[in-house]
Amino acid sequence: MKRRKAIKDLMGILFGACAFSEVVSCAEKAKEYDLSMAENCGDLEGLDDAEISKRNQLGYTEETPIEENTCGNCQLYLPPKEDQPCGGCQLFKGPVYEKAYCTYWAPRVANT
Ligand code: SF4
Repeated sequence: MKRRKAIKDLMGILFGACAFSEVVSCAEKAKEYDLSMAENCGDLEGLDDAEISKRNQLGYTEETPIEENTCGNCQLYLPPKEDQPCGGCQLFKGPVYEKAYCTYWAPRVANT
């Protein structure tokens, strides 16, 4: 029984590490896109099909179906800088609406 639990725990750790490395990799790629290029938050000009497909696979929608869960209060949201019309997301390139949402929404953790 202990051995089975140890294997299960190890699988959980390995899966978590893989998922974490994928998120870190996505985050690095998302930073390469210049958000000041976007004319508005729905402007996907300059993004290739793979990037557009990625946001679709994550269930990105410009209007959140859950009022209290939006990109604007998500831990992965990149707020717009002074010269940017929109914020971004750490998981994919391109602009996102502050009132948007995807299935990877995670509550923002307050900095202490
Ligand atoms: S809700 Fe989804 S698209 Fe919006 S910032 Fe969070 S992870 Fe990115």
